[in-house]
Amino acid sequence: MRYVSTRGQAPVLSFGEAMLTGLARDGGLYVPETIPTLTAAEIADLAGLSYEEVAFRVMKPFTGDTFTDEELQGAIERAYAGFGHPARAPLVQLAPNHFLLELFHGPTLAFKDFAMQVIGQLFQIELAKQGRKVTIVGATSGDTGSAAIEAFRGLDNVDVFILFPHGRVSEVQRRQMTTPIEENVHALALDGDFDDCQARLKDMFNDFAFRDEVGLAGVNSINFARVLAQIVYYFTSAVALGAPQRKISFTVPTGNFGDIFAGFLAKQMGLPVERLVIATNQNDILDRCIKGGDYTRHGVKPSMSPSMDIEISSNFERALYFAYGRDGDAITALMTELKEAGSFTVSPNAIGALREIYDSGRIGEGRTLEIIGRTLKETGELICPHTAVAVGVAEDALDRDPATPMVTLATAHPAKFPDAVNEATGIRPALPPRMKDLFERPERVTRVANDLAALEALVRGERRK
Ligand SMILES: *Cc1c(COP(=O)(O)O)cnc(C)c1O
Repeated sequence: MRYVSTRGQAPVLSFGEAMLTGLARDGGLYVPETIPTLTAAEIADLAGLSYEEVAFRVMKPFTGDTFTDEELQGAIERAYAGFGHPARAPLVQLAPNHFLLELFHGPTLAFKDFAMQVIGQLFQIELAKQGRKVTIVGATSGDTGSAAIEAFRGLDNVDVFILFPHGRVSEVQRRQMTTPIEENVHALALDGDFDDCQARLKDMFNDFAFRDEVGLAGVNSINFARVLAQIVYYFTSAVALGAPQRKISFTVPTGNFGDIFAGFLAKQMGLPVERLVIATNQNDILDRCIKGGDYTRHGVKPSMSPSMDIEISSNFERALYFAYGRDGDAITALMTELKEAGSFTVSPNAIGALREIYDSGRIGEGRTLEIIGRTLKETGELICPHTAVAVGVAEDALDRDPATPMVTLATAHPAKFPDAVNEATGIRPALPPRMKDLFERPERVTRVANDLAALEALVRGERRK
C-alpha cells in the first residue's frame, strides 16, 4: 500500500513513513493510492465481532507490511483496554430511525481518543524499530490536544508540544492539557484562534531545516493514521443496524473534516452509506460551500461548540482531491488561492461529485441550547453542544429522507462542556471519578505569540536532546 500527496509533488511513502511524516513536503496530505475494499460477505461477517476485531480487519489492508498481524492486533488491544465501555462505541436510540453513536468513552472523553490511542501504540512500535526520536507538535481546538497528551505522555522517545487558542477552549479541555506532570508534555497557549494554531503548525512542517533538526512529527488529522482508525466505528455501527443489507446515513459534527472523511473512506471500502451529512455550528463555511460552491472565509466566531470553530478545514483538501478525480495540480491551485485571497470556488464537476456523497446543515447557538434541553426531556440523554449541533442537522436530514436509518456521532461527553449543558438544562454533568480532582491539580502552561520564530525557538529549547 502506497501513500501519495493531495498536491502530487511529494515522495510516495509506505504507511509507516506516512504516519511518522504527517504533512507531505509539498504542503499536501497523504492519501492511499488505492482504497482497499471489503466484499458484502466480509462486511456481513463483522456482525457480532468485538470492536477490536473489526478494527483489525478494517485497518489491516491500509497498513501494508509496516506491522505484523500480531503487532497491529496488540496495538489495537492496548489502545482500547482503557475505555470505559465494553462496546467501545455503543449505539443508543433517540427517535424512530435516529441513533446516537457514543464516541466519548475514552480516557479524555472525546472521539479523538479512538485514533490517538491507536497511533500512540503504533508510533511506539515504529520508533523502537527504527531507533528514532520525534518531536510531536499538534494544534488543537480543544480535544485533540488532551487526547495526544494522554497517548504520548511519559514516553522516552517522544516530546509533545500542543498549541491551543488562548481563552477559546473550555476549562475542562484546558486543564486536561495543562495538568499532566510528565516532563515530555508542553501545553502552549497561543494568542490567536485555532486556524492560527494550525497555520503555524503547517509553517513548522514547511520549514524543512527545523523539521529535520527536531524530527518533527504530526498527530493532527493531517496524519492519515488518525483518519484510518476512525473508519472503524462507521462499520461497527452500520453493521449493528443491518448493513450490508440496509443503507445507513451518518451526521457528523464537523470542524477539520477528519471524522467525516473517515466515513467517506468507509463508503469507498464498500460500506453502504447513503449520505454523509456535515453538521456545522455558526462557523458554517463547509455548509455554505456544499450549498453554494464557494469556500469563503468570514472570520471565526467563538461558539459553545469550540472544537468546531474552524475555517481552514484541513481534511476538506482530501475530499476535494477525490472530487477533482485525484488532480494534484487542481488542488495546489485551490489551496494557493485560499491562502492568497481567502476563498476559492469549487468547479461545477467537483461540487456535483461532493453533493453525490455529502449533505450539510448549520445550527446556530440558540437552537443548540434548545436541542440539548429537548433531547434530555424527550430521551433522558444529556448531550454535549457539538453533538447537539449534529442532532439538529440530522433531524432536518431525516425529514428529507425518513426511510434511511440515521446515525449521529456523539463526539464528546457532556461533562467536557458543563457551562453550555448547564445553561440548556440546569444540570452540571459530573466528570467521571478518575478525573474528579481535575480542578485542584496545578496547571503548567506557556503563553506564546502567534509567531513562527518564537515558537520554533521554544520547541528547540524545551525538547529533550
Ligand atoms: C474534533 C472535534 C470535532 C470535529 O471533528 P473533525 O474531525 O475535526 O471534523 C467535533 N466534535 C468534537 C467534540 C471534537 O473534539
